[in-house]
Amino acid sequence: MGPLRDGARVVVIGGGPGGVGAALAIANLASQMGRQIHVTLFEGKVFAGERHFNQCVGVLSPPIDRILQDSLGIPFPRHLIQREITGYILHSDRRAILLECDDPPGFAVRRVQFDAYLLEQARACGIQVVNGRVTDLEFHANRVIVYGDTGNSEADVVVGAFGSDDGTALVFERATDYRAPRFLNSIVTKIHPGAEFMAQFGNCIHAFLPSAPGIEFGAVTPKGNHLTMNIAGARVDVNAMGLFLHSPAARAVLPRLDGGLGENDLAFFKGRFPTSQARSFSGDRYVIVGDAAGLMRPFKGKGVNSALLSGTWAARSMMTAGISTRAFRQYHAACREITDDMPYGKAMRAIAIGISKWHLLDTVIALAAQDARLRHALFGAVSAHRSYRAIVHELLDARWLARMAWMLAKMPFRNRLDKERKTP
Ligand SMILES: Cc1cc2nc3c(=O)[nH]c(=O)nc-3n(C[C@H](O)[C@H](O)[C@H](O)COP(=O)(O)OP(=O)(O)OC[C@H]3O[C@@H](n4cnc5c(N)ncnc54)[C@H](O)[C@@H]3O)c2cc1C
Repeated sequence: MGPLRDGARVVVIGGGPGGVGAALAIANLASQMGRQIHVTLFEGKVFAGERHFNQCVGVLSPPIDRILQDSLGIPFPRHLIQREITGYILHSDRRAILLECDDPPGFAVRRVQFDAYLLEQARACGIQVVNGRVTDLEFHANRVIVYGDTGNSEADVVVGAFGSDDGTALVFERATDYRAPRFLNSIVTKIHPGAEFMAQFGNCIHAFLPSAPGIEFGAVTPKGNHLTMNIAGARVDVNAMGLFLHSPAARAVLPRLDGGLGENDLAFFKGRFPTSQARSFSGDRYVIVGDAAGLMRPFKGKGVNSALLSGTWAARSMMTAGISTRAFRQYHAACREITDDMPYGKAMRAIAIGISKWHLLDTVIALAAQDARLRHALFGAVSAHRSYRAIVHELLDARWLARMAWMLAKMPFRNRLDKERKTP
């Protein structure tokens, strides 16, 4: 179970960013090393023609263009960009603050078109893409048998890139020590408020931390000709989405939703975010990447980037170290870029929930309006452009904390509990 040799066979299960990232990276490394590796990728959905979807808001964060070009050797699909995202507006129940930075912009795309593009690039690189679902796995000392609804195949190693698919997680749990991560539910919907409204809406994502129980966070994202709204929480459902859409904070930025466009007219979709790391996400002859491994920033996004990167790390490990539990230690070491940040992310998630549920976010926003460092930290956390560790270290400065305490003490009580909605 050393590094993949000439003639080795790899089966990738799932054709989202994690699976395509792994498949493309194996193909690139194989050609650099002069080895012939047969990569077969199974994807159950059909993205071309927008027949099936993976739930996602479709905001690609920097440095997505460099990941595609430098790590995977494919062009960034500029033709898919619907809007450049230049900033965020963070809302509490009563206040809002504009958060901007000099970082490169994010790009709003239609995720299904991005997935179709990635699969096309995989085919163009000689990867065999099979439209079908993998239904079972059998691990043997010298190979893995992959059962699918289009027939079965054999591989030296399998890459699990199946996102939050419960059925496939169960297949791996039965056959290996893998245990799926925990997930947070999310409901997504969209509205088409017309060209004039969209032109005036601007290029900022509105992020909400409502104090109402049940919803951890919400967002309104401008795309090409529509707004995408999503909420997340342990038990969010369409009723929670209704409450969010009618909350004063969301209504301040949305077009009127009553009349012809009540929530009964909206289509709802359900997705899930991982909030913890999976257990045993690699072992003899298998490696799990992307959401299925829980390799995503807890609380807020950049899941596409993390999935692509974890796919490339798994590929490098298989091509240079091997495909055994021991060899995949190299993969785990590379994943530390994400996993080391998780404790900080979890702590910040707990603090953010506490702040919003205890109605303290109004005060934080009032403080941020007067302090650039706090605004910068909020931008980093909301945009996911910076690691949580970097943000925490930036804020752990005794002089700055003392200044915040002084500003808080000076702030008129009326200002701290301002009932008036203030939206920039
Ligand atoms: C509501 C919501 C909004 C989001 N918004 C953003 C955002 O704006 N930006 C961002 O960067 N991230 C976002 N994310 C996160 C992002 O979608 C994921 O992190 C990312 O898609 C993970 O990629 P993946 O390849 O691991 O899994 P996925 O993209 O889920 O891909 C898994 C693929 O595996 C296939 N599959 C599963 N089982 C099988 C099987 N047995 N056989 C064959 N195929 C199978 C599925 O059909 C699927 O296509 C969002 C997530 C949610 C839920």
